[in-house]
Amino acid sequence: MSENWGFDTAAIHAGTAPDPATGARQVPIYQTTAYVFKDAAHAARLFGLQELGYIYSRLTNPTVSALQARVAALEGGAGAICCASGHAAQILALFPLMGPGRNVVASTRLYGGTITQFSQTIKRFGWGAKFVDLDDLDALRAAVDEDTRAIFCESISNPGGYVTDIPAVAKVADELGLPLIVDNTLATPWLCRPIEMGATLVVHSLTKYMTGNGTVTGGAVIDSGRFDWSASGKFPSLSEPEPAYHGLVFHEAFGNLAYTFHSIAIGLRDLGMTMNPQAAHYTLLGIETLGLRMERHVANAQKVAEWLEKDPRIASVTYAGLSSSPWNATAQRVYPKGAGALFTFSIKGGYDAAVTLVDELKLFSHVANLGDSRSLVIHSASTTHSQLTDEQKTAAGAGPDVVRLSIGIEDAADLIADLDQALAIATA
Ligand SMILES: *Cc1c(COP(=O)(O)O)cnc(C)c1O
Repeated sequence: MSENWGFDTAAIHAGTAPDPATGARQVPIYQTTAYVFKDAAHAARLFGLQELGYIYSRLTNPTVSALQARVAALEGGAGAICCASGHAAQILALFPLMGPGRNVVASTRLYGGTITQFSQTIKRFGWGAKFVDLDDLDALRAAVDEDTRAIFCESISNPGGYVTDIPAVAKVADELGLPLIVDNTLATPWLCRPIEMGATLVVHSLTKYMTGNGTVTGGAVIDSGRFDWSASGKFPSLSEPEPAYHGLVFHEAFGNLAYTFHSIAIGLRDLGMTMNPQAAHYTLLGIETLGLRMERHVANAQKVAEWLEKDPRIASVTYAGLSSSPWNATAQRVYPKGAGALFTFSIKGGYDAAVTLVDELKLFSHVANLGDSRSLVIHSASTTHSQLTDEQKTAAGAGPDVVRLSIGIEDAADLIADLDQALAIATA
């Protein structure tokens, strides 16, 4: 972490010295599309990547750069690229690695939208995905083939509260010579730092806890800077001459920043999934309180999950912070500060009781989002996971009687009281 700062210091200061032009203490919103070149030679050097600087805001912008530096510091990465959404981050992360006929081996336990993106949409690029249960490391080894270019998982997974044993998966990725990509949206770097556990790349939906108040759609890719892109010959975008930059070889020219530079100079330039400076500014403000918020999120989640588990109207609770969870030991070892603040429970009474409960909650907002300071509820099977087959729904922990909670930072007693009154109606 920069200057050996602690997490909360870096969350406020990393990447954001006072504005060099004005001394402004908060990071200004650089609402500009373009930047004036010093002269024709300067412009030519910038375009040829011989000198780094601002050209056009589809590629780089000072407000977005400040956020990139802060996110890289919090995740312990060499560099970061911010982009328009979490889903954009996933495409951007895979883009330098994949090509027609190549595949990614991904966990079965993922955000529903990611399962759809990987199993359907990326086929249009000629990319493929195979899904495996990452608790079974032999299944992971068996799924990987000559065309595999990455392994993908979520640290804490949406919606089931499942936790991935990142050190174990990273070890296998290392044996196989493949980059491990970890979606760290639900854990945030406050609960888990995947790069320290061996991950190559981290992706985020900044939309969630990182901004933390439901105001922004954004994403990020963080590069550990540690993967040898040239060793296997499997990553030609990084290890072979790039025709669009006069034969420049990214890995040779930029070393441990090759992936980051490629993602800006080719990824953002040509895919155009850029984050706007206003979104970067809001996200910077949100991150200032990340540590304080996450501490309360997980403390509240633990209290609410424990209360639900004891209630006779509840069939089961998935939270990995409960000693009854099959993942409790992994959670304590890999996520010692808490198992996140998102979990599901099944209500006795099936589908009808589940949807009635959602309708009767007053303090919880019924929305398709998570990681907000306010508590949120959704019935995953009929919404976020509705495009999946029944088999995929159950594998992802989103059966018909399952309700998902994203626990906010309100008073836990008020959340419990709200659940209590809604459960009374739903199970009457
Ligand atoms: C929300 C979410 C995404 C997608 O992020 P968007 O910002 O909505 O595009 C990806 N992964 C996880 C775990 C998420 O919760």
